[in-house]
Amino acid sequence: MTNAKGRSSTNDSIELLIDLVQRESVTPEDGGCQPLIASRLESLGFTIEWVNSGGVTNLWARRGTAAPLMVFAGHTDVVPTGDETQWSSPPFSAEIIDGYLCGRGAADMKGGVAAFITAVERFVTENDDHNGSIAVLLTSDEEGPAIHGTTKVIEKLNDRGEKIDYCIVGEPSSTETFGDIIRNGRRGSLGAHIDVHGTQGHVAYPHLADNPIHRAMPALSELTNIVWDEGDEHFPPTTLQISNFNAGTGATNVIPALASIELNLRYSPAITIENIKSTIEGLLKRHNLNYDIEWRDSARPFITQQGTLCDALQTAIKEHTGSSARLDTGGGTSDGRFIAPTGAQVVEFGPINKTIHQIDERVLCDDIKTLSSIYEATLVTLLAR
Ligand SMILES: [Zn+2]
Repeated sequence: MTNAKGRSSTNDSIELLIDLVQRESVTPEDGGCQPLIASRLESLGFTIEWVNSGGVTNLWARRGTAAPLMVFAGHTDVVPTGDETQWSSPPFSAEIIDGYLCGRGAADMKGGVAAFITAVERFVTENDDHNGSIAVLLTSDEEGPAIHGTTKVIEKLNDRGEKIDYCIVGEPSSTETFGDIIRNGRRGSLGAHIDVHGTQGHVAYPHLADNPIHRAMPALSELTNIVWDEGDEHFPPTTLQISNFNAGTGATNVIPALASIELNLRYSPAITIENIKSTIEGLLKRHNLNYDIEWRDSARPFITQQGTLCDALQTAIKEHTGSSARLDTGGGTSDGRFIAPTGAQVVEFGPINKTIHQIDERVLCDDIKTLSSIYEATLVTLLAR
């Protein structure tokens, strides 16, 4: 399968991808991926900055000082291989089998990284005097706790007033066919742990006890029936799920003193976190519960509306694959959640995600070549003079 518009000059992407996959970099290791990329970018006139935190390596490389600033973002770390003997080829050997490059990180997301680095190299070589600025942001802490990664770089940029206008995260967003989906936002994730307190006692003497299970049940029933919002054109309605409900001493004749509930909401920007919290706490109070609640604000929702960046990317995808890429906000969280609050237009676009985190993770070499051409064409639209 050869893309009619794929150019032989984009084989540089595959060479770089092989080199990156062969550098073992299970979170938080970088395996030398970022120094390799930094030296390539430095020779093209990028200013290299290392933002290291808690044993994690982060790279910020920028060329130019003017606005608009276009950023390619991604991670060089990969998840563990699992049982290596189950792989058809060793996971860090980067073998090409039937046109697929196989190896841990090939799709998530060294393929995207290789494609955007080579796109930047070709673009800068042909457009030395481009408008605005180009930057590359890489972390080795995406697959882990993500405390010392992208968020640290963004903090530093915020401190000195450095503003990102456009950002493409090279995560594998394609689902069924290459080029079918651009992620232009993500739902927020809010968790809560609730302890409902009662008084322990004998089941035969309930008037001397206070049963927290009985107290919690009507409240939880009401909680699970709340319609939070209707969603909107970009997001499905907000959902609440109780994932854990624990109570009881194990004895059949004892009323317990405590019931513990764990819940999670996936929410859209149609509702605020303050609104969710006050609704839930108001309900618990109305039911006269003696409770403690602990919130976990793990991701804020974001949306990048149809605009300059989406238009440029969709046009490039159409031109190189024939596919009309759909904007979508599904899936889990990604580092886009740290970049979007700066006000930047942020989208994720990359290869097919079917094999990510699996045994025999792989990408079609032709897709990576085409991806690099798409990134390059997007740069031309946004920054060429
Ligand atoms: Zn990833």
